[in-house]
Amino acid sequence: MSRIDLNSLSIAKTRELVTAGDISCRELVEIYHGQIKEHRDLNAYLEVFDDAYELAEKEDIAIKSGQSPKLLSGVALAIKDNMLIKNKKITAGSKMLEGYTASYDAYVIKKLRDAGVIFLGRTNMDEFAMGSSCENSAYGVTKNPWDHSRVPGGSSGGSAAAVASHQCLAALGSDTGGSIREPASFCGTVGLKPTYGSVSRSGLIAMASSLDVIGPFTKSVDDAEEIFKIILGKDPKDATTVTYITKNSGKHPVIGVPREFFSLKERGKEGVDGDVAKALSEAIDSLKSAGYEIKEVSLPNADYALACYYILMPAEVSSNLARFDGIRYGARAKAENLLEIYANTRGEKFGREVRRRIILGTYVLSAGYYDAYYSRAEKVRWLIRRDFENVFRDVDVIISPTVATPAFKIGEKTADPLSMYLSDIFTIPANLAGIPAMSVPFGFAERDGKKLPIGVQLMAPRFAESVLFDVGRALERARSV
Ligand code: GLN
Repeated sequence: MSRIDLNSLSIAKTRELVTAGDISCRELVEIYHGQIKEHRDLNAYLEVFDDAYELAEKEDIAIKSGQSPKLLSGVALAIKDNMLIKNKKITAGSKMLEGYTASYDAYVIKKLRDAGVIFLGRTNMDEFAMGSSCENSAYGVTKNPWDHSRVPGGSSGGSAAAVASHQCLAALGSDTGGSIREPASFCGTVGLKPTYGSVSRSGLIAMASSLDVIGPFTKSVDDAEEIFKIILGKDPKDATTVTYITKNSGKHPVIGVPREFFSLKERGKEGVDGDVAKALSEAIDSLKSAGYEIKEVSLPNADYALACYYILMPAEVSSNLARFDGIRYGARAKAENLLEIYANTRGEKFGREVRRRIILGTYVLSAGYYDAYYSRAEKVRWLIRRDFENVFRDVDVIISPTVATPAFKIGEKTADPLSMYLSDIFTIPANLAGIPAMSVPFGFAERDGKKLPIGVQLMAPRFAESVLFDVGRALERARSV
């Protein structure tokens, strides 16, 4: 047993220990390497970096020689395998990128590196971030640390499982339709999807560029805030980023419950698992007793979010993934001529789900169907945005389930893509509207004698992450009493 209690180790605590000289960065890496070894069977990591010790020692020498530690010195992070780390392999969970090495650091990696972070390794994910269970990875499924027969969620399942099993202090994921919040909910961690445009996508392998956001998985809301503050900011390499100015509600926030997601009167909703409804109900009650006003609100177009997403997202996917042609990046299939290089490489190296979405995407963008599908979905997206704007005139935060169920079994939904897509029904609207959303663990379900965590989702207006953090902390306080 290490002398550090990993359950209570936070970023602030790490800083305190490193600053006081009570622990070295090297020792922290040792502790996490021990954890990684112990939990190999979860398949959370695709690669564990061998230079972590070297980096930690460098940091230790600098501190010993009198330099004050950096803000995140000794903080050991795991990175979803779709963010470039210079001179490291990157696969995005696909055979397509086998043999490819990153030639530069993603913006977020550079920011974290400058802040003293130690990168432990690359984590498993659904291929090109398409999926809700990690089962679409070309490198095997990751197991849920709470019950190894269940999925960790996806697409950032490796990152969520790594944090939940203390194989790192925190991790990065990306969220296009729920890929941070859903696995956070399934694994019992905090997961933040920041405001679209607050964190640069430079160096993130694109899925659907108008929706993709990078964010942290952490054990606490405080830690999520610490990481978010480091990675946010305007980056000339991502024209959608803006100078971040915090929006604060300034008063005790009013919390809205969208009746399309959860009925306050019935304390549930059709399709929402009983344990999830109970957890959300208790979360709402605890916020009420902490002095928050609770109001029913309506998002009338939310019902169309899933359909809208499954038109816009594949359209962008088909365009973004066109670059993987067997010539520029990674793998190349056997071929006799140029056309065969394209066709064979894309046919052999992309998995089923990725191919399905590319085909769907090219279809909805094709001349005959563009108006009927893509351009209509784009209009619906604006209606959904407007719904949120209307609601945020009345309330400061929206609360809902993160996912309708606790983690499902490995193999349970693989034969039925639609039922898999439904996992994201509560998370997708925030991506379409570009607003920040966070999953905070609240309560458990019991299945087959095992405890399974449940997450509660909080959503706020753009740039109002600070309000999410405040309410998230209120939930954490309520949970601990
Ligand atoms: N599960 C969703 C999908 O399959 C969301 C993925 C994501 O957020 N990257 O598209």
